[in-house]
Amino acid sequence: MLKGKTALVTGSTSGIGLAIAKALAQQGAHIVLNGFGDVEAPKAQIEALGVRAEYHGADMSKPEQIEDMMKFAASKFGRVDILVNNAGIQHVAKVEDFPTERWDAIIAINLTSAFHTTRLAIPAMREANWGRVINIASAHGLVASAQKSAYVAAKHGIVGLTKSVALETATTGVTANAICPGWVLTQLVQKQIDDRAAREGITAAQAQNELLGEKQPSLQFTTVEQLGGLAVFLCSPAADQVRGVAWAMDGGWTAQ
Ligand code: NAD
Repeated sequence: MLKGKTALVTGSTSGIGLAIAKALAQQGAHIVLNGFGDVEAPKAQIEALGVRAEYHGADMSKPEQIEDMMKFAASKFGRVDILVNNAGIQHVAKVEDFPTERWDAIIAINLTSAFHTTRLAIPAMREANWGRVINIASAHGLVASAQKSAYVAAKHGIVGLTKSVALETATTGVTANAICPGWVLTQLVQKQIDDRAAREGITAAQAQNELLGEKQPSLQFTTVEQLGGLAVFLCSPAADQVRGVAWAMDGGWTAQ
């Protein structure tokens, strides 16, 4: 379905980003990977699906590095057809204790980076009259939790950004949508489980059950493969008129 298209997925060396990159590659899209950590294994996994994979290590908190990444993608593939803004970090603390440096980093990586990638990707998408902007928001883009002020602000912000971009491109073949996962068992959440287990003196399994029980009525994690499937759907012709939605895939979290 996506043969000949190019997808750039930020923060795609692990977790949700890597799974979305793989799902798009399975549909034939070439992939630009980004993120920290191991690069060789993700690149090999994508290439094994029969498409090209390139990597750029831009730090999403640095606008000039983001510009360089977008130029790199254009030089390798001509343009970015599918932009998945996925890179994200978390920090948990009460607002009065929240380190200002963590606030700035979360807003920069989880929100402002998507402004930069989007503004740089849209002109070529408009010219081709086809494009997909998929922003990985969160259930926290729709509702809040205590101790996550920066994350909730960034995720609500990216849902707003998604809607504005969707309106600006509404008469074109370019769509912009957000995906709002509930709990997904990636390293970002594993850290919260481990911190909770240590804080409360319970096992990791107990901490995991508490985490799900508090928020996610299905009591099951959303999987990265399910999120990959939703991203593929948003790239399909069936989704041509899906514009500006914040699509929850959260086991019922935000239905409450
Ligand atoms: P993860 O930690 O496995 O992946 C995060 C990715 O972002 C990694 O590739 C990491 O290297 C990259 N990254 C971090 N800082 C970066 C920076 N400055 N520049 C470039 N890349 C950077 O976490 P994940 O759970 O897969 O998270 C992916 C996205 O999904 C995030 O935006 C997160 O907020 C969102 N999300 C996750 C969950 C969940 O339960 N795991 C739920 C809702 C939303």
